[in-house]
Amino acid sequence: MTIKHEVPSYLTQHGIGPWGDYLEQIDRVTPYLGNLARWVETMKRPKRMLIVDVPIERDDGTIAHFEGYRVQHNTSRGPGKGGVRFHQDVTLSEVMALSAWMTVKNAAVNVPYGGAKGGIRVDPKTLSQGELQRMTRRYTSEINIIIGPNKDIPAPDVNTNEQIMAWMMDTYSMNQGSTASGVVTGKPISLGGSLGRREATGRGVFVVGCEAAVKRGLNIHGAKVAVQGFGNVGGIAARLFSEAGAKVVAVQDHISTVVRSSGLDVAALQAHVNETGSVAGFKGGEEISDRAQFWAVDCDILVPAALEQQITVENAPSIRAKIILEGANGPTSPAADDILHEKGVLVVPDVIANAGGVTVSYFEWVQDFSSFFWTEDEINLRLTRIMREAFAAVWQLAEEKKVSLRTAAFIVACTRVLQAREMRGLYP
Ligand code: NAD
Repeated sequence: MTIKHEVPSYLTQHGIGPWGDYLEQIDRVTPYLGNLARWVETMKRPKRMLIVDVPIERDDGTIAHFEGYRVQHNTSRGPGKGGVRFHQDVTLSEVMALSAWMTVKNAAVNVPYGGAKGGIRVDPKTLSQGELQRMTRRYTSEINIIIGPNKDIPAPDVNTNEQIMAWMMDTYSMNQGSTASGVVTGKPISLGGSLGRREATGRGVFVVGCEAAVKRGLNIHGAKVAVQGFGNVGGIAARLFSEAGAKVVAVQDHISTVVRSSGLDVAALQAHVNETGSVAGFKGGEEISDRAQFWAVDCDILVPAALEQQITVENAPSIRAKIILEGANGPTSPAADDILHEKGVLVVPDVIANAGGVTVSYFEWVQDFSSFFWTEDEINLRLTRIMREAFAAVWQLAEEKKVSLRTAAFIVACTRVLQAREMRGLYP
């Protein structure tokens, strides 16, 4: 008997938004999945999606409501895992895509997790610390029914940090009556956080960047690097490249773009950002007013480390980099991917390039369960090994199948997820 699926419209928006980009990536990989392709629909349907109302009392006594989400895309290989984003443009569709990319990423680097993501549609810069804490705690309480150390483990993402994770851990623990440090990762060290976690994503970007440079015959020493986004991921990646002798020639954030062809002083720029909240007004470089010009900057390595859908058919033709390291999730549209491929630009996809964060989140979770904590050297060594091995495996498959690194990474990941799906079988 053939059963006809009624597919809800929000699941099928090909070409629209990040979820549309994700669907297209899955369509591109399906021909390489052999018999497992019969399970591919699994990848196109998030397992569970929760939308919550998050009301808080503001400092002036008024009541504000925010919309929150937690999406568990897939849990075939283990509990859900993925960050929480606070941003004014967060939508359900965006969180669906981000949760799906987590499924692919966790499988691509072979950590025993499914994929999940969460977010609140809010500009946190408009909240006081007290309001931010109340919103975080109420959101955590609302999603409490689906998260937990063995169910779904949130972590930091755009505009969330160790303090937010501490509030989330405390709220979950208060609700259940005992301390559950393994419910979130990216916590402060004093609460069971891991050494090296704060830097892990940027470090992973740097490690795969060095591997990609070897493949392209590029010397990191003296290489020109441009970075979009100077937060956790972009800031650390820029620092590590600069410490390795590369020249960080351009940095763009949500307000401004700063360039210096002889290389920006990254430590001074970081100090400026810590003080002012933006690269705008930094005296050690020239500010350019046309944001689009960032993409045409003369550089060898380009690191998009801000938001998704930044590299498009409009700006891809002007990109001069030899290598793109996707620090951000979903920064390149499928059509832009094709343009870059034609130009011979090596794109190291997000699901490999920024997997360092979830890898050390995994280490944090393991350390919390065993209550035995590792040294920073041990963590960085294990991180580096996992990143290099994942890059090498994907590189080899890309050569064999004559596909892009993204398609190769998706083949590795979807095969692992769908094999698990098939072995487990359908319940009931
Ligand atoms: P963050 O909040 O620390 O920093 C975000 C940066 O992006 C800031 O510098 C901000 O000014 C900039 N930005 C925001 N909007 C912008 C715009 N329109 N144009 C240019 N710059 C803009 O966030 P983060 O944790 O560094 O995350 C950045 C990206 O990396 C996101 O795509 C996130 O999903 C991804 N990522 C983060 C982690 C992690 O561990 N934090 C792990 C994997 C992937």
